[in-house]
Amino acid sequence: MLKTDVVVIGAGAVGCAIARELSKYNVNVIVVDKNEDVGGDASKSNSAIIHTGYDAAPGTLESQLVVAANPMYDEITESLDVPFKRIGAILPAITDEQFSQLPAIKEKAFRNHVYDVEFKTGAELLEMEPELNPNVKGGLYIPRESIIDPFILVQALAENANVNGVEFMLGAKVTDIKTSNGKIESVVTTKGEIKTTYVINSAGLYCDEIAEMVGKADYKVVARKGQFYILDKNTSCQVNHIVLPIPTKVTKGKLMCPTIHGNMLVGPTAEDQPSKVDKSTSAEGLDSIATDVKNLVPDVNLRDTITQYSGLRPNRNPEGLNFNMYDDLAGYINLSGVRSTGLTLSVAMGKYVVEQMLYSGAPFTLKENFISKRKGIIKFSEQTPDVQDTLIKENPLYGNVICRCETITEAEIMQAIHRPIGAKSVDAVKRRVRAGMGRCQGGFCGPKVIEILARELGVKASDINKNNPGSYMVTGTTR
Ligand SMILES: Cc1cc2nc3c(=O)[nH]c(=O)nc-3n(C[C@H](O)[C@H](O)[C@H](O)COP(=O)(O)OP(=O)(O)OC[C@H]3O[C@@H](n4cnc5c(N)ncnc54)[C@H](O)[C@@H]3O)c2cc1C
Repeated sequence: MLKTDVVVIGAGAVGCAIARELSKYNVNVIVVDKNEDVGGDASKSNSAIIHTGYDAAPGTLESQLVVAANPMYDEITESLDVPFKRIGAILPAITDEQFSQLPAIKEKAFRNHVYDVEFKTGAELLEMEPELNPNVKGGLYIPRESIIDPFILVQALAENANVNGVEFMLGAKVTDIKTSNGKIESVVTTKGEIKTTYVINSAGLYCDEIAEMVGKADYKVVARKGQFYILDKNTSCQVNHIVLPIPTKVTKGKLMCPTIHGNMLVGPTAEDQPSKVDKSTSAEGLDSIATDVKNLVPDVNLRDTITQYSGLRPNRNPEGLNFNMYDDLAGYINLSGVRSTGLTLSVAMGKYVVEQMLYSGAPFTLKENFISKRKGIIKFSEQTPDVQDTLIKENPLYGNVICRCETITEAEIMQAIHRPIGAKSVDAVKRRVRAGMGRCQGGFCGPKVIEILARELGVKASDINKNNPGSYMVTGTTR
């Protein structure tokens, strides 16, 4: 049986942020995930916004963590080489009724200590964002709302944790947790049992099922689907800020914003559903996005859509972000209700969890040789012609463009495969270097990526999955 000090369940944003924080200490950590890649479930299908917490419920743990997390992103994205931009958000009021809600939203922002929210007139907003509905009456400007590459954020946290000693056991579903005499004993996975002192449940949508294994499930998780459109980089109508609607009790609403790589993102819906796996999109959901977003940005051109996707928010019932440790179950830490702001708060949650563990007596001592920096994969397409020439001279694979839409070279794909916690599937390559993220959505480069993966991993093309086991794209040879 494997032995460790801490098992983190879930390699999403939250689990990887906790793992990276733990990797600063002399403690053995294994992160276990049922998926074949790090990146989580919700963590790879969201709006990719680093929130300020201006609209959180004041005084809650969620508000504290989001507000604390936002300023941390300048340093963390710099240290871990994660694409991040502070583009700011605007919250335009189109109707008189919406306009009358602005003072209360601003007051809430102040109660959350987000003091840099400012009121803007309609004319000022139109100057900032010319594509806005010309009837805009005024609104709020929230300068620190920001955009990030959510895939790279989680990979970077995981890679950095890994180079600092954290092990990742992927494709391993947790099926049971054994306890004895009020203590954690071991975690049972589909890849074997791990003896451990601590278990951290950061299993997102499935955190209720993990909690049930130790008799601590006093809540349920219901999936709340969010559907999105991604528009082509050249779409005729573009915005420079995150354009947010006035939020409702159920959702932050349907927004339009640029992604960190220059596409336009439009959505999401908020639809509760019984299934935790159904990630389909629907005409009804997508139509509702079109109707709502056109109120904010009338000329949004949804005919420029290159793909649609959906993500499932782990909505807790009863609601609210919860952190729990238990007097009658030493070593078990339960996180639940990490719902709509979990990407943002992950880095603060990492610190919070580790501090709570230390405070409750965990005997972790700081490492002297923690490696705080990580260098990402160089993006060939973003280099000057001189640098591109040098790169090709050093490694001719930079001269072989595999993904034409995004100009991704074979050299970049090779690095995606051979880095720590490397890519093993087509989507894993896509999330690391964007091959297949462009206009043709992998129609051209997909087969080439399969070929490179098969060659580098020493398997047959028919063994390469799109994402999880069984999602084969090649079934055999025809000649
Ligand atoms: C539509 C939508 C829009 C959003 N927009 C934003 C946004 O703009 N900004 C923001 O901050 N947040 C946003 N969020 C929320 C954010 O994405 C989530 O809160 C966050 O990603 C949760 O991270 P996590 O690590 O807790 O969960 P996940 O990413 O879901 O990871 C949980 C992991 O646990 C693993 N797991 C589960 N059960 C088991 C098991 N039995 N054994 C092993 N592994 C298991 C899963 O495989 C998964 O990898 C949005 C979410 C959605 C769906």
